[in-house]
Amino acid sequence: MPQTPADDRELDRMRPVDEVRATVLHYAAALPAEPVDLLAAHGRTLAVDLVAAADQPPFPAATMDGFAVQSDDGSPWRELIGEQMAGQVTAPEVTPGTAVRITTGAPMPPGADAVVQVESTDLSDDNHVIIHQDEIAAGQNVRPVGFDVRAGDVLLRAGTLLGPPEVGMLAGEGQLPVMVARRPRVSVLSTGDELVEPGDPLGPGQIRDANRFALVAALEAAGAEIVWAGKAPDEREPLRALLLERLAGSDVVVTSGGVSMGELDLVKALLPEIARVHSRRVFMKPGKPLNFATSGPDDRTLFFGLPGNPVSALACFELFVRPALLTMLGRVAIDRPRVPVRLAAGARPGDRPEYQRAVVRVTSEGHLVGETTGVQASSRLASWVGANALLMIPPGETPLEAGAVVQGLLLGAPLASA
Ligand code: AMP
Ligand code: MG
Repeated sequence: MPQTPADDRELDRMRPVDEVRATVLHYAAALPAEPVDLLAAHGRTLAVDLVAAADQPPFPAATMDGFAVQSDDGSPWRELIGEQMAGQVTAPEVTPGTAVRITTGAPMPPGADAVVQVESTDLSDDNHVIIHQDEIAAGQNVRPVGFDVRAGDVLLRAGTLLGPPEVGMLAGEGQLPVMVARRPRVSVLSTGDELVEPGDPLGPGQIRDANRFALVAALEAAGAEIVWAGKAPDEREPLRALLLERLAGSDVVVTSGGVSMGELDLVKALLPEIARVHSRRVFMKPGKPLNFATSGPDDRTLFFGLPGNPVSALACFELFVRPALLTMLGRVAIDRPRVPVRLAAGARPGDRPEYQRAVVRVTSEGHLVGETTGVQASSRLASWVGANALLMIPPGETPLEAGAVVQGLLLGAPLASA
């Protein structure tokens, strides 16, 4: 896909974060549904609404251990004529002057309309229940049919992330197997001749490949399936062949490095030959040289050329890759919560919107206060360790004072105040 100088200028235009995000989301298409076992459903995204097929409970059930009786029966004591455990209906009919011992969750025996809890009773020697309760209300300690779930209720919406209660709900409904969105298949590729494997000793001028592993972790946390992860040299032909192979075998390809202005920034140089490039520069810090491209039928395969600096790579992941993955999963909520945060200390704005890593705490008055994590260099991964938010410092001339309110992107729950 050859590009003219005019195309090039347009691609190199510095685009606002929201514009690049909109472009990315435009190409992020929903993935097909696939069946999974209940035990594999946790963490997946539901692909179809879960509609209740029947009322639950399907029978009136006791909510206490005690005795099933007729509420309008005035007898001071009642003959114990049987028992009803949770499970099969075995008890005889309850009539005036009688009671059936019942356990929590058991179906009400015929004739009974209330349960007196065991704490309000005594048993006589001759098999009678004495009730120490003046009034017994009809329906007392009984869960009526359909109390928890009504037939036809939409219990879970398509696009719901399946956590423990949702998995329990699916099990309770018994509509199996569970239909979930297929995981996006992602290839991760670090570029750079300076990179060595984390287990290898460093030679002169070398660094360990941190990005591949940080990105795999971030991708997996967002619900992706890693189909390939590896390293490519800064050599045109091998890199080109590898990128083509990975584009053909993935829903999403994520690379790091090779997108700046250097001569060996080959990802940027090669990309127009093998994919349709939509954007090359984002008006933000860190992460300016993000390359976004698509390829394949209907532009279904997404390519993210992330910058090499570890913080820049993760920032671009958060702002662009993660929302794309969640869109492909059909997730209802694709964004981290955006909340107003007060700066714990003053901040000096730059010429681009800056996403500073911070620890956000809730004060005793219920305000969110954010403290940045020290030097905010894009090479300094330590600035992300322990951070639970990105604070967006808008560009400008005037320093922000402590207490100024900025927008925070919550990556995790705020901490309690120190
Ligand atoms: P590049 O975008 O390739 O020019 O890389 C920018 C900076 O990020 C350079 O200092 C690289 O050494 C560093 N870098 C690139 N890739 C990685 C990686 N996978 N892990 C850690 N640092 C990297
Ligand atoms: Mg490089």
